[in-house]
Amino acid sequence: MFVGDAGIEPPSDCMLAELGQKEIGKKLDAFDKTPISKKLEKFLSSDPACIKLFQIIAKKHGFVFTEDAVNYFNEQYNEQASPAPFVIARKCNGCNALVDYVSLAELDFDKSKIRDATCGKCRRSCRVSQTKYKKFQNADILSLFMYGQRLNVFRPFQYPRCYFCKTEENIDRTKKEHTQLLCKKCSKPLEISLCFETNQNISKPLGIADAQGYWFDWYFGRLLKNKFGDATVVRNPQFRFDKNDFELDILLKKDDKTIGFSLSTEKDGSFDQEKFFLFKRVCDKLFLVTSDNTVKKTIIECAKGCFGKTKVSVITLSDFCNITRRFEQVPKQ
Ligand SMILES: [Zn+2]
Ligand SMILES: [Zn+2]
Repeated sequence: MFVGDAGIEPPSDCMLAELGQKEIGKKLDAFDKTPISKKLEKFLSSDPACIKLFQIIAKKHGFVFTEDAVNYFNEQYNEQASPAPFVIARKCNGCNALVDYVSLAELDFDKSKIRDATCGKCRRSCRVSQTKYKKFQNADILSLFMYGQRLNVFRPFQYPRCYFCKTEENIDRTKKEHTQLLCKKCSKPLEISLCFETNQNISKPLGIADAQGYWFDWYFGRLLKNKFGDATVVRNPQFRFDKNDFELDILLKKDDKTIGFSLSTEKDGSFDQEKFFLFKRVCDKLFLVTSDNTVKKTIIECAKGCFGKTKVSVITLSDFCNITRRFEQVPKQ
């Protein structure tokens, strides 16, 4: 009816329909009103390492072994050889020896709480250094978990496993602490591992049991709402263009501009490239936002191909150190 044999296309907005907000978007909006959301926001905003930790626990359906989290951090940061954001090295002002490492998570990310230290060799004072931190220890990651625990975001528990008969059925999972040291079936020693799980009041509304990335949609939407109180922030709006249904993660309407945000919690940012040309129907500018370290060049090029070079911006994990500064780009275009 619209595109006839003559090949004359009607104005594109004739075929665009707004289908309203998806159910999950409404759930995320409702979560904004809960007291626990403030605690989760505080946790995630403290340091990019907190976003990383939440990412691994969300990918594991809201439940992670401490040892797995340590391995994950070492894989992530070794690749980049970047300094760990929350572990600070202290060096001697005299002999330059490495004196110790301080986890900011232990100090609730309050740098004023770093106490003075002196060098064991020459008794001089120490300075904070940006030395690269090669390998994470259990204590580093535990300090992050415990910071989350103080905010009621995580809960620790012990998880006994039998490596011999590989059974778990004789273990009472409802107990918080285990006095059972031997497997009831084979009588061999149980391995008791430390785990952390997400508070149910967080994991249920954010759908963390499904290992979806909605927590990141919620968090980024929250940051936008905080920053642009006068703007309209819509989580998960749906549209139909011609016969194609599509959704955006977040849409920001400010003054007369509409800005789209496409979010990813996958490594190298896996975005729906096929949808970029549809996103162009509903927004003037597109932000690609990842909770990881990079977005693949091919994806950025693809988005720029649809929107134009100046109309695409990228926000990666390291930008979360100073997210407000990145938001200054929002009203520009
Ligand atoms: Zn010294
Ligand atoms: Zn056993």
